[in-house]
Amino acid sequence: MRQVITFLFVFSLQAIFSQNTFQNAFNKSERPFRENLSIDFKDKDGNEASLPISILKGKTKGPVFTIVAGVHGFEYPPIVAVQAILKEIDLQQLKGTLIVVPIANTASFYARTPFISPLDKKNLNNVFPGKEDGTITEQIGHFITSNIIPASEVFLDVHSGDAPEDLIPFVCFYNNTKNPKQTALAKELSEKSGFQYVVSYPYTLSDTDAAKYTFKQAVQDGKTALSIECGKLGNVQEENVNLIKKGIYNMLDTMNMYQNGTGPHPNIIYRNNQSYVRSSTKGIFYSNFKAGDLVKKNELVGYTTDEFGNVLEEYVAPKNGIILYKLTTPPINVGNTVMCISSNTDNNEYPTFDKTTNMTTNSRKELCRLYLERYAEKDLAGVEAIFAENIILRDWKIRVEGKKKALEETKKNFEAAESVEIEILEMHEDQNTVAAELKITVNKTEELYVVDVITFNSEGLINSIRAYLGRGDKENK
Ligand SMILES: [Zn+2]
Repeated sequence: MRQVITFLFVFSLQAIFSQNTFQNAFNKSERPFRENLSIDFKDKDGNEASLPISILKGKTKGPVFTIVAGVHGFEYPPIVAVQAILKEIDLQQLKGTLIVVPIANTASFYARTPFISPLDKKNLNNVFPGKEDGTITEQIGHFITSNIIPASEVFLDVHSGDAPEDLIPFVCFYNNTKNPKQTALAKELSEKSGFQYVVSYPYTLSDTDAAKYTFKQAVQDGKTALSIECGKLGNVQEENVNLIKKGIYNMLDTMNMYQNGTGPHPNIIYRNNQSYVRSSTKGIFYSNFKAGDLVKKNELVGYTTDEFGNVLEEYVAPKNGIILYKLTTPPINVGNTVMCISSNTDNNEYPTFDKTTNMTTNSRKELCRLYLERYAEKDLAGVEAIFAENIILRDWKIRVEGKKKALEETKKNFEAAESVEIEILEMHEDQNTVAAELKITVNKTEELYVVDVITFNSEGLINSIRAYLGRGDKENK
């Protein structure tokens, strides 16, 4: 009994001491100011870990912006990007305060374990709000919840694809309608981050639900919080490190804290509807797809075999969409996320184009799909947003030049049809052109087989559509 009392006493002293170390440094009024802390944790099983924290106070007062890397210690681009930020930030130019956690899960980092801490086998991104007297990972979660989140105005958690994961870079936030102001800022920071894919998740937690995820905890605590996912496969890719740095600098610039932004991506693509394909077997995983590929509903996207090569399970896409991230290495276990397929259910959000900047070249198919979605929805404003001024529209009946005339023709088609359904049969892409083989059903009865050849200008706007009428395999029409 005496031992227990002594233990509890030592334990709670340690917790109070850790809190004070952070609070003391954070509360200092000196500016500019920089302090590096290492908070120590010890659990009942004898596991020990430390949490590094850097507090950077700029010359002038301003918002408190927290950047966390290494919640997953095998996700290196965020860790390397944050190292560069720590080195580059000039406190004379900084307005406000940065709280930087360079590696949240140091145990996982040094032991090179994906997802979990090797000490207690827990995933830090699954323990929030954490526990003061819990295992080592739960204690770190609790410290972040009770000290770092309350001190923050904006909380950014940076991740990448872990050791087995392929991933396309994106920025994401929760569409939390309970706190519209914080959510609007999270959206704005996402849009100005420079990332092309802006992903939002629905927010359905009640006030008493455990947030589990790091940045979701900050959302639940009423903060503006968001996350970057950039990098893949347990490697450091320089271009992904640079994207993360750019994202952070753009966010700080948007907050008016540091003038080193480069502006938003010229062609933002919004995604707000994620579907997850999960494994129900253990075995060897195969897939010909990669992150960023577009998939069609019911398309076979991968399969699992046993150790003798017998197919145990096949995976099909539950809907049309883009693969945000996916499992890429062969080992697969029950309950693994095989892939996340993302789409957009909103009709009122369009890609935005910055005509002064060139866009990247890898999203023509995505833009073509957007155009066809807008067309099927008879959404003239949506179509207008992706037509170039000098567009040439040509089909088997007409040929018009210029945006005004092209929109007039499009409008005529919309008015002539009660309903339009477009099924994409095939889609091919080269640098500036997408060819799409389409089955278009007008008014539920009239079926047209059409090939659209769509070209894009350097701003990602459609500058020509050439449509060719053909026929289907079984049609006599
Ligand atoms: Zn992660």
